[in-house]
Amino acid sequence: MPKDSTGYAKSSKSTCGKCNKNIEKKTLRIAVLRKIKGIKTPKWYHEQCFFNNDFRVGEINEFEYYNTLDNKDQERLKNKLEALFCSAISVDPYELNDKTIERNENRRYHKAVLSEFMVEISANYKKTCNECKAKVLKGDLMMRKLVYDEKVGEFYTNYHVKCLSLTDYGVYFAFHLNDLPGFNELSEENQSKLREQLNMNEDMPDSICKKIKLDYDVKDEEKENKTNYHLVLYDKYLRELSNVTKKSFELLCKQNYMRLLKGKDKNVWSKCDYRTKTPSRKCMEIPDEILQEEVFRSYVPSIGVRLFCDEPIATAVKLNNNVLKTKVKKEAVSLPLKNVQFYLYRYDAAEQEALRRRILKLGGLVTSRIVDTLAAVVTTKESLEKPSRLVNQIKRLDIHVVDEAYFAAIESSENMKVFDSLALIEKYKIAEWGSDVSTL
Ligand SMILES: [Zn+2]
Ligand SMILES: [Zn+2]
Repeated sequence: MPKDSTGYAKSSKSTCGKCNKNIEKKTLRIAVLRKIKGIKTPKWYHEQCFFNNDFRVGEINEFEYYNTLDNKDQERLKNKLEALFCSAISVDPYELNDKTIERNENRRYHKAVLSEFMVEISANYKKTCNECKAKVLKGDLMMRKLVYDEKVGEFYTNYHVKCLSLTDYGVYFAFHLNDLPGFNELSEENQSKLREQLNMNEDMPDSICKKIKLDYDVKDEEKENKTNYHLVLYDKYLRELSNVTKKSFELLCKQNYMRLLKGKDKNVWSKCDYRTKTPSRKCMEIPDEILQEEVFRSYVPSIGVRLFCDEPIATAVKLNNNVLKTKVKKEAVSLPLKNVQFYLYRYDAAEQEALRRRILKLGGLVTSRIVDTLAAVVTTKESLEKPSRLVNQIKRLDIHVVDEAYFAAIESSENMKVFDSLALIEKYKIAEWGSDVSTL
């Protein structure tokens, strides 16, 4: 769903969400979109008031109807968004654009971006990292990102600090971390740990800056010319159609199976979230009755492909980060005990906790009882030798038993695959029973 909408005020009745004054008819207005009772509902702002706010602004592809604006308005809006984006990652917008955004605006916008994130110490083992899908350990630093979903509303997704820093969001954490919610509540030690894990070395902002400039310089001039031509053409069609009488326009719509939406009908339109840049098209037919009208006389309908402006900067950074992303994915795949289940038997609380952390770190899981999907029970030789009902049960179910040495072996070998880790159980088993685990 688009985050924002834009267009020209149809009347002077709408009021601005920031200054509460009316938005004059025909002036450009920008809205923040939210779904209320299933209907897309805009909150409108003056252009200036919209950019002079403390919320995060969407990227250009999140702006509904952006492509229906006048050429010069599109250009200005695009420049403002680019400048905002640069300010959010602390690149000096003066070098890329005219003085669209004042320098002191940068920090404020950066703060608005950071307000959608927070950092905290994970209180339990329940949170799963949205990037690598492994658990975030209790007591470790955890980053959270506020996301919006149409069905459930706003909620937080969780990340390992390192995992988040390698996503597209990573660029936002180069400066002013004390604007990050939760940061000031951390101990000094954790604050520097966070800095370290975000990998904020001195040359990072610089390299990003260079990358952006590079992509900005080599933007496709030919495509831009074509896109501009389409914009001019669009303006021209709009202008000419405004001279067509209502009756002729209705005839034209009827001939082409189109219907003008009025009043309540518009809700149907706003409920639809389907978006495409390449809709299937039919050639327009002009009814005989209006064929002789000025506008249509020299017009020959044809099927073309509409070109849209793309956002050069956003794609540049995404490209940049995709390289990093594949790196994270590889790390995630190589978690040696990913989703492998263990049961810990007869450890005191401190030992149990320590062992559990080691297992989770390797991607494994610890169950609270004996289940038939266990890879192994973890205990010591002494505990195993003491007769008990549980040991009998493990034996009867033919479940492997390993001790701490098994995990030490996995920890000391690099890039072990899950399959190899499972095979290793056979080597480190401390009970004489146990079926072949690698066939589980
Ligand atoms: Zn206003
Ligand atoms: Zn992760």
